[in-house]
Amino acid sequence: MTPAMTDERTRKIERILPLIEEITGQPELDVNGDPVGELVATILSQNTTDANSRRAYATLKERFSMWAEVRDAAHEDVEDAIQTSGLAPTKTQTIQSALTRLETAGGEPSLSNLDGMTDDDAIRYLSSFKGVGVKTAACVLVFALGRDVCPVDTHVHRVSNRLGLVKTTARDKTFTELAPIIPKGEAYRAHVALVRFGRLVCASQRPKCHVCPLFDECGVEERHDFAAYHNARDSN
Ligand code: SF4
Repeated sequence: MTPAMTDERTRKIERILPLIEEITGQPELDVNGDPVGELVATILSQNTTDANSRRAYATLKERFSMWAEVRDAAHEDVEDAIQTSGLAPTKTQTIQSALTRLETAGGEPSLSNLDGMTDDDAIRYLSSFKGVGVKTAACVLVFALGRDVCPVDTHVHRVSNRLGLVKTTARDKTFTELAPIIPKGEAYRAHVALVRFGRLVCASQRPKCHVCPLFDECGVEERHDFAAYHNARDSN
């Protein structure tokens, strides 16, 4: 991407974020300061609902008072604690394997080594763990440490492509292309706006183009058809 294209896409993000936030509201980042907990919570959140993964995380914390205990526990005990998150055997393996690889500080698995790493190095380090992808790594950086990175989930990937911010077919590529065009300091804000907008308006199937404030910014040719579909349905 040329510098001129980068600047133009950055300006586009600056233009659309306030429009999206008229619908979604503006978020405040509540940094939790617990990268190991965030890593485990994000692994649990894969392929399930927020409610189910939160319940699994709460049960895990109830049954094990330290991450070292989770690391050293029998697989079946961890599986039993996290079963509401689904895919419990796989997630148990991912969590225990990640905890085993972490440095240990005062007996507990620790991610304090992230403090000395750049965002890129930290993403590379975390996503080198078995079962941990770029999105999970980015969630740890932003939600636990307040780093200026934008995790790319299915909504961010879809909406970014529809709006012509990136042209990608894979989420990890979207992460790489989106990072340099997001205005400095706005990655978390962009993440939340695109996720909420994807859920509320720009849905995967039949997006609500008839009420979309970004209609003129959008590159989806079928948006006129989607708008006509919803308008016809609303008038019946
Ligand atoms: S016009 Fe439709 S497809 Fe385009 S961003 Fe808006 S809701 Fe999404």
